[in-house]
Amino acid sequence: MALYCESCMKLVEGEICPRCRSRKLREPEAGDFCLVEEVPYMQAEMLKELYADNGIPCTTRSALGAAITVKLGVNVGRVRLYVPFERFDEAKDLYDAFFNAPFVPEEDGPCGN
Ligand SMILES: [Zn+2]
Repeated sequence: MALYCESCMKLVEGEICPRCRSRKLREPEAGDFCLVEEVPYMQAEMLKELYADNGIPCTTRSALGAAITVKLGVNVGRVRLYVPFERFDEAKDLYDAFFNAPFVPEEDGPCGN
């Protein structure tokens, strides 16, 4: 059973958060936003659409910080994706399916010339 680190908004295996070293972890509750993954900006945009299509609320934060993102241009930024705990497993499955799906070439339509 994973615990939840409030300061990182992240599900943690074990008793200490590997990121911030906090021991103040608690059991996750519905409505806790949990980090799904940190992804490049363009992928975040696609995942946000995917989650919207599946009715999963999703919030994002820039991993680099706004000032750096502006300086480098938004497309090189990395984004952290968060979803509510009760949708986390679903979101993770969608994430895995999104990145592990084999490339399927588009079928030729019936209107070939
Ligand atoms: Zn933490």
